Formats: sequence, C-alpha cells, structure tokens
Amino acid sequence: MSIIALTGGLGSGKSEAAKQFAKLGVPVVDTDVIAHALTANGAPALKQISELFGPQFLTNEGALDRAKLRAHVFAHPQERSKLEALLHPLIRAAALKQLAENEHQQHPDYQILVIPLLFENNQYQTSIHKILLIDCDEQLQIARAMARSFLTQAEAQAILDAQVSRTTRLKLADEVIENNGTLAELTESVEKMHQKLIKICH
Ligand code: ATP
Repeated sequence: MSIIALTGGLGSGKSEAAKQFAKLGVPVVDTDVIAHALTANGAPALKQISELFGPQFLTNEGALDRAKLRAHVFAHPQERSKLEALLHPLIRAAALKQLAENEHQQHPDYQILVIPLLFENNQYQTSIHKILLIDCDEQLQIARAMARSFLTQAEAQAILDAQVSRTTRLKLADEVIENNGTLAELTESVEKMHQKLIKICH
C-alpha cells in the first residue's frame, strides 16, 4: 500500500482534505492527532514535559497548557528542539504502527499520512511514496487560521513566516490540491485526486 504524505502550511486545509479522503474510504494517519493524543490528559508524555520544562506548563487539573507551551517554544528555539526531541520519536513510532495496521486493507492501494511540517522536518522520507500538497493563498491561510484558532493577524503571520515558503512547497510537492474556493469545491478536488491516486498507486 503506497503512503501519500499530505502536507501544507498553516490553515491551508489539511484537516478538511484529510476528512474528505477518509470519507472516501482512504485510511488516514494524522501525526497532529497522534501528537495531541500523546499529550492528552493522563498521557505519559505529560510527566516528561513537566520534568523538562517545569510544572507551570500543566494546569491545576494536570492537563497540558498547550497555548502556554506553544508560546514558550515559539519564543525559545532551543526549548523547541528539546520538545521535538521528546515528542518526534514517539509520534513517529505511533504513526508507523498505525500505517502498518492499515496494510491489511485491500482498497484503495494507498493511505494518507498527514504531516503538517513535512518540508521543515521530514522523518518519514523512507516511508513516503508521494507528497500531496494542500495549497492556498497566504491571505486565505491567515484569515482561516485566525477564524479557527482566535490568533491575531500578527500571530498567524509569524507562524507562517516560520514555515517554509509557499514557493518551496510547490516546488517539492508531487501533487497539489488548490484550496482557494469553497468547501464544496475542495470536496470535488479531493474526489478527483482520489481517482488519480488510485491509478498512480495501482
Ligand atoms: P493547521 O495546520 O493550521 O492546523 P489545516 O491545514 O489542517 O490547519 P484546516 O483546519 O483544514 O487547515 O482549515 C483551517 C480552517 O479553515 C478550518 O476552520 C477549516 O474549516 C477552514 N477551511 C478549510 N478549507 C476551507 C474552504 N475551502 N472554505 C472555507 N473554509 C475552509
């Protein structure tokens, strides 16, 4: 079964596209979902995060204060590396396990692996057959990210600036879904890409 990496910048529509692929019966492994689960209430990684960064990153109830940790590592690159060194191997192991579990499925001949920061940090090179990019105009990325996450324009712009450029992404991708239109249009584009990937991966 081929593995198609699905990537894209902030607010480009990766999750929406992944949802549509799943509706078409394509197995989807999402590294963001895995990362979230690894740091959910009661998850073992929380203890390690508290030991590494201090108990102030947990709420009184013992949950991860995601916004606080995100702001902290965004402002301190070395701390970010520490967090990544802890989480990336755990995420990778869980992702590879899920991908292997999907192998028994007969149709289609491919599965999707959602990796938001594929071009910034690719730990899946050997496993990936093709890179599918969800691409949209930067102004739309910012507007959609702001509407979804209550970020300010400056915060959204700063995240965008820290990611690889749109030009680089477009250059490195094998396939592109453009997401400048409505959700209905995105659904249509995913269906077309699904047919194409079935042919490519057969
Ligand atoms: P991130 O990497 O920042 O988590 P993402 O690439 O997964 O983002 P989504 O969460 O799928 O992006 O989309 C961002 C927001 O924009 C969501 O609220 C989503 O519903 C909305 N959105 C995505 N595509 C469209 C579209 N074509 N029309 C309208 N809204 C859209």
